[in-house]
Amino acid sequence: MAYVITQRCCNDASCVSECPVDCIRPTPDQPEFATTEMLYIDPDTCIDCGACVDACPVEAIFPEDDLAASLARYRDINADYFQRHPLESNFDPIVTPARPPKELGTLRVAIVGAGPAACYAADELLRRADVEIEMFDRLPTPWGLVRAGVAPDHPGTKTVSSMFESAFRRETLQYYLNVEVGTDISHDELLRHHHAVIYAVGASTDRHLGVPGEDLPGSHSATEFVAWYNGHPDYADRTFDLSGERAVIVGNGNVALDVARVLTVDPDELAKTDIADYALDALRQSNIREIIVLGRRGPLQAAYTSSEFLALAHLKGVDVVVEEADLELDQASRAILDDPKVEPSLTLKYTLAEEYVAGRRAEGNKRIVFRYLASPTALIGADRVESVEFVHNELVSEGGQLVAVATDRTESIDAALVLRSIGYRGEPVGDLPFDERRGVVPNEHGRVIGADGIPISGVYVSGWIKRGPRGVIGSNRVDSEETVEQLLSDFTTGKFGVPQGNRAALKTLLAQRQADLVDRAGWRAIDQAEKAAGKSAGRPRVKFTTREDLLKAARG
Ligand code: NAP
Repeated sequence: MAYVITQRCCNDASCVSECPVDCIRPTPDQPEFATTEMLYIDPDTCIDCGACVDACPVEAIFPEDDLAASLARYRDINADYFQRHPLESNFDPIVTPARPPKELGTLRVAIVGAGPAACYAADELLRRADVEIEMFDRLPTPWGLVRAGVAPDHPGTKTVSSMFESAFRRETLQYYLNVEVGTDISHDELLRHHHAVIYAVGASTDRHLGVPGEDLPGSHSATEFVAWYNGHPDYADRTFDLSGERAVIVGNGNVALDVARVLTVDPDELAKTDIADYALDALRQSNIREIIVLGRRGPLQAAYTSSEFLALAHLKGVDVVVEEADLELDQASRAILDDPKVEPSLTLKYTLAEEYVAGRRAEGNKRIVFRYLASPTALIGADRVESVEFVHNELVSEGGQLVAVATDRTESIDAALVLRSIGYRGEPVGDLPFDERRGVVPNEHGRVIGADGIPISGVYVSGWIKRGPRGVIGSNRVDSEETVEQLLSDFTTGKFGVPQGNRAALKTLLAQRQADLVDRAGWRAIDQAEKAAGKSAGRPRVKFTTREDLLKAARG
């Protein structure tokens, strides 16, 4: 019997180094790792020891004999990967990275942000150096997108926060939550109290379509909708009109799929999750019966991962619809699919679309309809969105990519709600340099680079503000390890001055600046109160969704 990696895989590769027979691929040092949708276990080599199961932070690995029906297909998905990439064992000994010499003393690092990139960076620092870390977040809660982005019906993915929670029990890491860097404390003040600052602030805004009507009532960014249903305090007062029967989602990445699921699954299923109570109430009143997901490119170029696309097939009461005509491939896409070296995940994406063409159509079911090669040109309505006009595209090869180019064929769909799910976007961070085009802080392997092309001493980035908004939660592990590697190398080679202020001085300063800061005890109080409220309702937690309630719980 072998173990099988399934849908929830977060790509953080914790399992790879735990496998005694080295049968999990791709590994972080392989080129395929950067683009892989998930990791895979070679069934012919697996010795059934279960070490990977214990290492997995998101409970994505199961014995093949225990796979639920919705995950059964992953047995073949894991095996297929090794047909294309036969396992070559890597006998390189694991090298334990050198720690900075003791005589350098304790390294002091401020980490701005408390999401996955921040937490993986902190975890790596704690493992590799004698370090004191102060972690800042402008929200009274940690975990960033794990709390406010991961869909509530993916509770397994959220378990990664338990891993961080137990890694951060030590006093060497202090939380300063509800503290905004740039308002409550400046960048210069942070640098005065630490050797280095890592910004792991994510990508907090969204891209724009740039079409007429985009700002009409009824048109929202998906990022706003996601933050709303996840109880983010800055979005709790938003309202979404769910009274119409049809919604259009523009873009077909994994966020689009999250949103399509939340809008269509039975609210009784969502009631078992940590979804915000007000969102659950609104979804119970929703009239939406059909979601149209518009992708500007073809089914092979869709941005969703095949695992998330596959999971839709198992939604109760929801039909997934693809029109046969939409699966006609242009010559270049056909050549990609017919290439014997095609990635199995890409073949699976297309196969699934074919299965959805012929899939279930039950009367009374809600529908998620995928349309491809379609770009909105205008959102139409007198004083709110009533319809979406779009143009059919064709694919043209440009700079090694197949890009969408409009044809003269147009169409219109009635819809009362439009969610633009075309990607997150990073925002400038204080006075740090900023690449407006990519929405990232310019950096080399995590070292922030100034306008003169030279690294700015003591300033680093990690996560989406470093590499742009792509990759799953665990992708931040390798990313943060790279940043920490640069930081430790700079510390070891004497590139930092000695901080003028210590931990006690920082604490005094922050107590003067932000009376409502939330520390470890405060967060623990919030966490326990939310979990206790959830327990009686059989839910993982019931979230506080306003700052006032969060701060009250923190004090309580
Ligand atoms: P994404 O994967 O980058 O998808 C963005 C989508 O918007 C793509 O379909 C893109 O098309 C389209 N798009 C961009 N500009 C457009 C325009 N002007 N007009 C029409 N369409 C446009 O972004 P995301 O869905 O926000 O996800 C962000 C990251 O988080 C991804 O790496 C995703 O996998 C990850 N995530 C993972 C999960 C999960 O594992 N369950 C859940 C949520 C998010 P093109 O491809 O043509 O550019």
